[in-house]
Amino acid sequence: MAEQVVADLRERCATPAALLWDVAAAMADEMRAGLEEEGGSRVKMLLSYVDKLPTGREEGLFYGLDLGGTNFRVLKVHLGGNDKHVVNRESREVAIPPHLMSGSSSELFGFIASELAKFVADEDKGNSSSNGKKRELGFTFSFPVRQLSIASGTLVKWTKAFSIDDAVGEDVVAELQTAMEKQGLDMHVAALINDAVGTLAGARYYDEDVIAGVIFGTGTNAAYVEKANAIPKWEGELPNSGDMVINMEWGNFYSPHLPVTEYDQALDSESLNPGEQIYEKLTSGMYLGEIVRRVLLKLSLQCAIFGDIDHTHLKTHFLLRTPHISAMHHDETPDLKIVAEKLEENLEITGTSLETRKIVVEICDIVARRAARLAAAGVAGILKKLGRDGPTEKHRSVIAIDGGLFEHYSKFSKCLETTLCELLGEEASELVAVKHVDDGSGIGAALIAASQSRYRNTE
Ligand code: ADP
Ligand code: MG
Repeated sequence: MAEQVVADLRERCATPAALLWDVAAAMADEMRAGLEEEGGSRVKMLLSYVDKLPTGREEGLFYGLDLGGTNFRVLKVHLGGNDKHVVNRESREVAIPPHLMSGSSSELFGFIASELAKFVADEDKGNSSSNGKKRELGFTFSFPVRQLSIASGTLVKWTKAFSIDDAVGEDVVAELQTAMEKQGLDMHVAALINDAVGTLAGARYYDEDVIAGVIFGTGTNAAYVEKANAIPKWEGELPNSGDMVINMEWGNFYSPHLPVTEYDQALDSESLNPGEQIYEKLTSGMYLGEIVRRVLLKLSLQCAIFGDIDHTHLKTHFLLRTPHISAMHHDETPDLKIVAEKLEENLEITGTSLETRKIVVEICDIVARRAARLAAAGVAGILKKLGRDGPTEKHRSVIAIDGGLFEHYSKFSKCLETTLCELLGEEASELVAVKHVDDGSGIGAALIAASQSRYRNTE
């Protein structure tokens, strides 16, 4: 009975290469449709207004602000210019008090500006770094924003744990700028970006073959460098560089080729955003643990794999989190001790047999493998859109990836990489590299501020 449920799941989550290529082709098609016209695809393909990426020649002191989850980070980097790269960096992470996540916009931005002011004051002790010039700041704000220019954009909606009604529809840079002025902070917001764009910029600074930045964290998103003349929906003047970074918002991708199961359907319909972010719900850290929980619940209710237990915990949405399934999946003890511990700690399930623990590991494997393989198909979709997926390709393509899921779930990241090679074939994959970029989202903002800055003295 339990074997049958697992076999069904395995079959429905199967991702043979042919299916993944269908997914990749659908992603490339959606990309084209989204670039064609506003609203042309579920994949929004937003213009980032970043038309020049850091080159390694930027010089001076720049600040970055990273707001996206429960913490925000302030950092300062000293760029050496002439490929000396980052000479020095200082950063500070601050937890956002939960009550500010649903308060008013001026309270949130006031708090951020005051923490920024403290950071600057501490940093300034002992060195007169600013030389009387206005400080330049890059702001990474990882919520959906309709960008109006490189340094302005209106908030479309909050996601994750935030809901501050009076901020929706407002220009987040103007809000930040006002709050900074109240603090007497002499800073200029030179760029507004999100974490995917920041990851791309952070990696490009060290390697000019980086073409895309991808996030697999709580959610997922990707940004890549597009030719400006391949964006029919763009009505503005073409940038001198000929390039434009596109913020794909690919979490909302959907294709009938996606292997969606009954568990995914139930998760989606009971979620805060039914019908939306389907690709994200199959591939990102917020959801993988929850999918596994749903499968375990069915196995317990229908097949009693855990014996006669109280189902209160196993029935609680999001109680089993992705770091837990990662720990169980990587358990290499002969008796799967860690699996037993995690089941007990999180779900109050005790006394499991080795056989049952093996089933749990297999469920984690099926769910995480599907996620990683679909993630690889998304990356292949970008390469396909750019014509960089074939054996005749001559350019090297580097994909920069960041996010807690990619960073900490090593079976996920390894599987993503091997699947990408499998999809591209031996010859083409020699020219494609996946690179983990730590903290792209923070440093990327400072780097884009640098390359946009009115005070830059390079180029
Ligand atoms: P965010 O996406 O919120 O900016 P991160 O990039 O740090 O933040 O990603 C956090 C997410 O990464 C968590 O929600 C979790 O799903 C995932 N994660 C964190 N640690 C682990 C881990 N050890 N194993 C698997 N996933 C993890
Ligand atoms: Mg982040």
